[in-house]
Amino acid sequence: MTKRYQLPLRGALNPSTHRAGTNPGSFANAPQIGGPLAFSSPDTPGMPAPSEKTAWDFMPEDWTFDGERWHPPAGFEPKTQLEFARLSVVTPEMKRAAEREPHLTAEQIRDEIAAGRMVLPANKTHLRYGLVPMVIGRASRTKINANMGASPVSSGTEAEIEKLRWAERWGADTVMDLSTGGDLDATREAIIKAARVPIGTVPIYSMIIGRSIEDLTREIILESLEHQAKQGVDYFTIHAGVLREHLPLVKDRLIGIVSRGGSLLAKWMIHHGEQNPMWTWFEDICDVMREHDVTFSLGDGLRPGGLADASDAAQLAELSALGELTERAWRKGCQVMIEGPGHVPFDQIEYNMKLERRLCHGAPFYVLGPLVTDVFPGYDHITSAIGATAAAYHGASMLCYVTPKEHLGLPKAEDVKQGCIAYKIAAHAADVALGIPHTRDWDDDLTRARAALNWEKHFELSFDPDTARAFHDEDLDVDTDFCAMCGHDWCSVRISKEIAEFNSGKADGFERGAPRRSPALSEEQVRILEQRGNLPPEEIHRLAQKTKKAVAKPGERASCHSDFVEGDTARRIQQEKLVQLGRKDARA
Ligand code: SF4
Repeated sequence: MTKRYQLPLRGALNPSTHRAGTNPGSFANAPQIGGPLAFSSPDTPGMPAPSEKTAWDFMPEDWTFDGERWHPPAGFEPKTQLEFARLSVVTPEMKRAAEREPHLTAEQIRDEIAAGRMVLPANKTHLRYGLVPMVIGRASRTKINANMGASPVSSGTEAEIEKLRWAERWGADTVMDLSTGGDLDATREAIIKAARVPIGTVPIYSMIIGRSIEDLTREIILESLEHQAKQGVDYFTIHAGVLREHLPLVKDRLIGIVSRGGSLLAKWMIHHGEQNPMWTWFEDICDVMREHDVTFSLGDGLRPGGLADASDAAQLAELSALGELTERAWRKGCQVMIEGPGHVPFDQIEYNMKLERRLCHGAPFYVLGPLVTDVFPGYDHITSAIGATAAAYHGASMLCYVTPKEHLGLPKAEDVKQGCIAYKIAAHAADVALGIPHTRDWDDDLTRARAALNWEKHFELSFDPDTARAFHDEDLDVDTDFCAMCGHDWCSVRISKEIAEFNSGKADGFERGAPRRSPALSEEQVRILEQRGNLPPEEIHRLAQKTKKAVAKPGERASCHSDFVEGDTARRIQQEKLVQLGRKDARA
């Protein structure tokens, strides 16, 4: 007897346009585009309800409401996508973004932006250089961000442009330039001019080049922001939510403050005995952001740096402050998204996403991972992609990638690719689970090609066709009715194809008949195969030994360690003595 089960269907749309296959559809909630539950997961008991407020509840004080619509004061000129949306204007950027979200109209995008639940980060200067507008919000598909940037130890402008190209090639929807070394200004300028995706920065990094954090003043902050806004940066991470009163909450943390911006501002507050200057002068910062339509990415300076510090009092107090800042930014006409953790145990991810949705009134949540375990350095693109999938399913709108080099070193181009792919997997998996229309069509097409054992189509539809082809051809570079995994007699797909009652495996254009040779490995494929393991462990250890000999006696800590030398000496030792991978003499 065939038992039928009652499936927990809640009305989510079927992510497959043609309802292909036998799957009844997504188990998520019915979509409510135009409401706080656009695409949303069912609540585990105890989850915070969405906020009942939107950006419409935080209008500028000089706007008036006539019972139907809002009116700005005389002479007002809209500058930001939020202000245009408040005036019911559909901008060319909204239209272009809608072409990239087939399930949304430009009017829906305008309404979501007006409600504060979506942002369209597009600095006017960057639009002139060739930015292709896109949107971030829970009504649209999940986006991913790739971080890059030169550090004082490694890389330069050319290498960063190369990484930008690589990130765009592998699907990054936005890129953050986190440079802390080299010529920051030139690197930023070059990246903005070359990028078709929105560019984000953390401006506090450039504010302290050539000075110590204690010397930061209101003037320096505003000048730096103005300069970067004029250059064309689309969104700024501003750590305005780390407050003086939050600092005692960090005392017993296992790993303190792991955000660079958060730790720098904590030092400033302790030194001056005053409140966070970004909080104090937030309205002035808003004025600069509004003028150029730079979107806020309100930074999580107190994000947890390990599972043991997740969802603690410091993190949640800051999140609450970020909610207040969201209201203040909306009153000034600025677009806002919120940054989130970090390292979070899997079971706490849903709560974190839904608490943000409540405290920040649905402003898009932009999360870093989160990593769901701390003990796999070298594989944190995987530990974090697991958390990122859950985060997107439960409410995050953009996922900041993590590369295999996280916690260990500066990502190179191949690490950027690995991070992007891990996060494209997370974002796509969440979109299918949420029932976003059309998102499963690609999966269905590939499944059809797989069922037909149509290898060419299989490769063509793969996210990374070269790698898929190379892996296949490594064992068996012949187009056969099976692959090397199971072989001819055990190939269940081939056997299924031979069962006349099944419809599978009868894709258009698939030719049965004599096996034929597929094209041999291309030069690029050979290179991929050679590089698959990156540097072998022996090589890595050999280089580490070389470094160690240069800076430490046997059994002792390196002389550049901050326990032993002050900053300038450490920097000199780093530049003069450490082996820097990527430099010509690294293997000498
Ligand atoms: S041999 Fe095995 S892995 Fe390969 S196509 Fe057939 S069933 Fe799939």
